[in-house]
Amino acid sequence: MPSSIRPILIAGGGPVGFICALALARQGLPVHLFEAESRINDMPRAATTHAATLEMLAGLGLVDEVIERGLVEPKFRIWDRLSRRIVAEFDFGILKDETPYPFAVQCEQHKLAGMALERLRAFPHVTVDFSKRVTGVEQFGDRVEIDVEDSEGTHKVAGSYLIGADGGRSTVRKALGIEFEGYTHPERFMILTTTFDLGAMYPGCTRNYVSDPGDWFSIFKVSGDDRGPLWRVLSSTRPEQTDDELMNPEATEQRLQRFLPRDEPYDVVHRNLYNVHQRVAASFRKGRVFLAGDAAHVNNPLGGLGLNFGIHDAVELTGLLGQVIRREASDDILDLYDRHRRPLNIEFVQQQTIANKKRMEEKDPAAREKDFEQLRRTAADPAAHRAHVRRASLIESVRKRAAAAA
Ligand SMILES: Cc1cc2nc3c(=O)[nH]c(=O)nc-3n(C[C@H](O)[C@H](O)[C@H](O)COP(=O)(O)OP(=O)(O)OC[C@H]3O[C@@H](n4cnc5c(N)ncnc54)[C@H](O)[C@@H]3O)c2cc1C
Repeated sequence: MPSSIRPILIAGGGPVGFICALALARQGLPVHLFEAESRINDMPRAATTHAATLEMLAGLGLVDEVIERGLVEPKFRIWDRLSRRIVAEFDFGILKDETPYPFAVQCEQHKLAGMALERLRAFPHVTVDFSKRVTGVEQFGDRVEIDVEDSEGTHKVAGSYLIGADGGRSTVRKALGIEFEGYTHPERFMILTTTFDLGAMYPGCTRNYVSDPGDWFSIFKVSGDDRGPLWRVLSSTRPEQTDDELMNPEATEQRLQRFLPRDEPYDVVHRNLYNVHQRVAASFRKGRVFLAGDAAHVNNPLGGLGLNFGIHDAVELTGLLGQVIRREASDDILDLYDRHRRPLNIEFVQQQTIANKKRMEEKDPAAREKDFEQLRRTAADPAAHRAHVRRASLIESVRKRAAAAA
């Protein structure tokens, strides 16, 4: 690449920003990434990485480390809490003729971001700046300029394009005046992380969704840290409950004992509350500026789809930008990014996560039984089972996009 090419600017050093940077760097393109915080955020958020994403991470040279540092889980189970029975078990293994990765990998998102950052250090044409916040955006015919704020003040940086990967509250999206269409659920979700091995209570599968009309929860194992593997318990709260009421150690202990009773108290290593949204940006592109990951779409975490789709955004967008910058295609192809990814997010991520949440909390006994019957039939029928896990692993969305491009 000629050195006169202005860098592609990236706002946000979350997993999507770093994957964008790596995918561009590997094409020889200059990149300048700005992260507002002083380091990668390691709060417990995404861990489930699906088959379609693992395929993309293979293309970026990351998949072996993700598998090595994560936990491979081919199955997920849906339980009825009232009867304490498994309603349905789904197995990604049924996709072994379709993907080299017929499983999910539980690998925490901060590890993925860190792996990408580590690899970026090898590219001299990449700059990563922590503790620098993007505060403004201006576009011109040949460039985009951003305002960057740090401890010394604010200065301008010019680039060829800007990717707003700055999360759900995206400054870039707001600066472009793009609506974040959709809604916010009135309740918040809580994640409690424990070192106690919940596999003793839910043996045989590390991804469990426990449906209940009043008080659902789900439990997942992640590979963890020096303390060893960790289990996360995700559950819902009531809208009127305050942080103090929910987060004090006595309340979190009671919550865990309610779901997972045991004689000893739990060792809780993280307590987190999250707002839950179903929102999609009205457009993923304005001129030379693009939105990717949570800046473009947010959803509830049931199904583990948000970051997966964000990584798919990163791979698609950086591929298109590479073609345009290398003059292999006209910049009209950049329109494809919004044209394809926005409806795919609605069809595969919003629809599935909304349906998953509804099924977990369904109050009407007849509707619950109908849902369960449908799940049992789907799991028992090989063709329906395959269709279900193709959708749940986002393989169907990726194949649909590929077919549209062919
Ligand atoms: C409880 C929970 C569980 C989840 N589980 C899963 C899962 O299993 N699988 C899955 O696929 N998804 C899951 N998700 C969703 C996933 O966490 C998000 O989709 C993911 O974090 C999106 O990554 P991102 O890089 O787009 O945004 P973020 O991770 O939010 O990163 C944005 C970054 O931008 C920085 N930033 C913000 N503003 C600026 C600015 N103005 N200038 C510079 N930097 C800025 C922030 O500091 C941050 O580092 C879960 C979410 C939650 C809450």
